[in-house]
Amino acid sequence: MMSKFKVMHSCGHEVAHAFAGPEPARRQREEWLGKRPCQVCWRNEQAGAAMAQSQEWNLPPLEGSEEDKAWAQVIRAKAIAHNRDYHKKLTSSKGLNQDEELRAAIVSAADAALHEVEGQVEAKWWIEHRFDALNYIREKTAKAIAPIMGVEE
Ligand SMILES: [Zn+2]
Repeated sequence: MMSKFKVMHSCGHEVAHAFAGPEPARRQREEWLGKRPCQVCWRNEQAGAAMAQSQEWNLPPLEGSEEDKAWAQVIRAKAIAHNRDYHKKLTSSKGLNQDEELRAAIVSAADAALHEVEGQVEAKWWIEHRFDALNYIREKTAKAIAPIMGVEE
């Protein structure tokens, strides 16, 4: 049976919740929820942190509706962190020094992909690509070096 209850969140907002399950589990859930901010405040916190990160990285402002932009901001911050990390690992990989042509191709493809993804300002694009944007550089680079590696697409 679904039971409904109200929770006073840590942010001071009272929000209605529903729970299906035994009473002790419901009480545990209520207690857990009470220690957290409500969903709206939690999202705003995340968007604020993502916004600060974007400014630190000098990313361009996003375009779209306010609602889309807030969500896209969070997705972008996570994806850019992931891609920057991958870019760094890829371009500093020692194994690549063996083959100059391959190394040059990888570095130029990875640089171009990072530039491209960081320049993406459409909030809708980030929302649509929220999963594959994480591996943007990896996929672009793999495609770019496929002809050198002799891989058929
Ligand atoms: Zn709240």
